[in-house]
Amino acid sequence: HHRIVIVGGGLAAARAAESVRSEGIDASVTVVAAEARPPYERPPLSKGYLLGTDDAASTIPLDAGWYAAHDIALHTGVEASELDTAAHTVRAGDETLTYDRLLLATGASPRHFTGPGASLTGVHTLRTLHDSTVLRTAIARGGRRVVVIGSGWIGLEVAAAATTYGNSVTVIGHGSIPLESAVGPVIGEVFAELHRANGVDLRMDAAVTAIRGSGGGSGHVKGVVLGTGEELDADLVVVGIGAMPNTTLAAASGITVDNGIVTDAGLRTSAPDVFAAGDVANAYHPVLGRRLRVDHWANADKQGAAAGRALAGVDVEYAEIPYFFTDQFDLGMEYSGYGTLAAGGDLVVRGDLATREFVAFWLRDRHVVAGMNVNVWDVNESVQKLIRAGVRVDPVALADPGVALDSL
Ligand code: FAD
Repeated sequence: HHRIVIVGGGLAAARAAESVRSEGIDASVTVVAAEARPPYERPPLSKGYLLGTDDAASTIPLDAGWYAAHDIALHTGVEASELDTAAHTVRAGDETLTYDRLLLATGASPRHFTGPGASLTGVHTLRTLHDSTVLRTAIARGGRRVVVIGSGWIGLEVAAAATTYGNSVTVIGHGSIPLESAVGPVIGEVFAELHRANGVDLRMDAAVTAIRGSGGGSGHVKGVVLGTGEELDADLVVVGIGAMPNTTLAAASGITVDNGIVTDAGLRTSAPDVFAAGDVANAYHPVLGRRLRVDHWANADKQGAAAGRALAGVDVEYAEIPYFFTDQFDLGMEYSGYGTLAAGGDLVVRGDLATREFVAFWLRDRHVVAGMNVNVWDVNESVQKLIRAGVRVDPVALADPGVALDSL
């Protein structure tokens, strides 16, 4: 009989619980989750849920009754602390749990604005369902001046939702092109155009140095100050400047942490019988030959499931190709590949950038290392196959919509 403890309340924790049970081993399984609700998924929080087209149920991977039905003790609203990796114990509220194997799936937390005015009312971050509910209430009636700090995925998704509700939206971004570090300048510009065409005031090469409020540091947001000294009026500010892995518990216990919890390809941390998965894990990727921390939905989904098998005693090797999606205005996109390699590679486009209907490929020495389909569907499997095949492709054929991807 094994005692398994899963720390975390996101998708990675849910998938781990599910897959440990499907291995059918004789084990007690306890999930310790800091948030008040059972594990849930976050992508709708900046899309359908924020837009009011999806309800909270759309964020639930396993319904609340599933845990009890599978004899899993789910402790919500309880933060795990004091992990003793030698004694194999972890503190969860008033209890001390003993484990044979433990998973850290503690996710990430938003980076906060640190300049003056950071704690004014009307300054939002977006990570939890509660954050999304509060933000939705603030933007849903429209007619407000919204400043979004950050032109990354979440900043742009929030800008799209706030614009759709009829607010006037300004995005303040670093660098000259949004998303450039993720997708390069040409595709980044596609997103910039999308936002401008929909009326977003996109201010690149800009930074907010202070948020101004009514009545000193404790009032309500009135505006922001840019690095140039220019002031913009604002009724609310959304800070979307990235997320940091939640490594405090691991680090305090002496587990190796370096941009997340360091693991091998088997998701093992530096402590015996302790594994990590999801946004918090910086796992060795056997295809890349180095560590990779992926803070996207599909990684929490599949790496969480792999970690569940590891908790059940199975030797796993996690080697999935990173996958990511976004929805902004009428643009839907899927991306598969190794982003940092992609950034420096050659770009081949099949379709039309101007109409925002295309598949983009990044090549390195004529090998496909990443691909992105924009408003083109049912091709991402083929993109992944090309990446996995690792063969040289003809860029002319790759760009030709008349040539089937599977024939390349
Ligand atoms: P999390 O979801 O962060 O969950 C970790 C949980 O662990 C949290 O509930 C936290 O409270 C809990 N926890 C932390 N410490 C402790 C502790 N000591 N004890 C107990 N519990 C603890 N990805 C995409 O691919 N596509 C998208 O379109 C997309 N959209 C997103 C939109 C938003 C608004 C956000 C915030 C993220 C989005 N993502 C998207 C990313 C995706 O949601 C994350 O990759 C995913 O949530 C990671 O899951 P996780 O389980 O690793 O961590």
